[in-house]
Amino acid sequence: MLVDSHCHLDFPDFEGEVDALVERAREAGVGCMVTICTRPRQAGAVIALAERHESVFCAVGLHPHHVAAEGLSEEGDLAGLAEHPKVVALGETGLDYHYDRSPRELQQESFRRHIRAAARADVPFVVHSRNADTDTATILEEEAAGQVPGVMHCFSSGRALADKALELGLYISLSGIVTFRNSEGLRDIAADVPLDRLLVETDAPFLAPVPMRGKRNEPAYVVHTAAVAAGLKGISGEAFAAASTDNFFRLFPKARPCA
Ligand SMILES: [Zn+2]
Ligand SMILES: [Zn+2]
Repeated sequence: MLVDSHCHLDFPDFEGEVDALVERAREAGVGCMVTICTRPRQAGAVIALAERHESVFCAVGLHPHHVAAEGLSEEGDLAGLAEHPKVVALGETGLDYHYDRSPRELQQESFRRHIRAAARADVPFVVHSRNADTDTATILEEEAAGQVPGVMHCFSSGRALADKALELGLYISLSGIVTFRNSEGLRDIAADVPLDRLLVETDAPFLAPVPMRGKRNEPAYVVHTAAVAAGLKGISGEAFAAASTDNFFRLFPKARPCA
């Protein structure tokens, strides 16, 4: 069994199609997925989606893109959302200095609040980091050291941030980017991540892996990313699926009902 540790099933791309997506995932051997809410005011809808499907869990948070438009979330409100049995993590949160859609100071404050809320609620947190390696490492070091674990989702950062995240007990989740022809540097870093810290994800509807690159992504396609990751670790697809799925349930214990 494989797991898609990060997708966005509530996005309009999938409207009316979630039942079919979940079924196609199951047929492909993807028995569990975490759909990520990017705006807390949509948490109710995302939780409801997860409640309709045994194999779907969710994370709730405020994406760095939306901090300016939505306003900062209160730590206590975030922690409260994590009490629902289907909410396995807080996030995605973090820093995106590539698009800079929200002022950096606001992104940083939101990131810190999510980590504190996760510690308070005793759930892991999901990190989005793009072109922000140094500040992400600093905030992780200041807020997350010795606290609840987290995951660097859609990892595409540099080696220093990978090392810092691993040192702090975080997991590294690989997306379709690792399958792209020009991702040689990322594959080098991924090959050095210990097998017991690796996850895979689609980030669907985005970033479809080769050979689906350019198409709309969906959870079933995580098999292609997992195949590349297995190759990087020099192990069979079955061995990689077993290890990454174990990692997933260790990081997200609330998702164990679908194990
Ligand atoms: Zn993201
Ligand atoms: Zn995402």
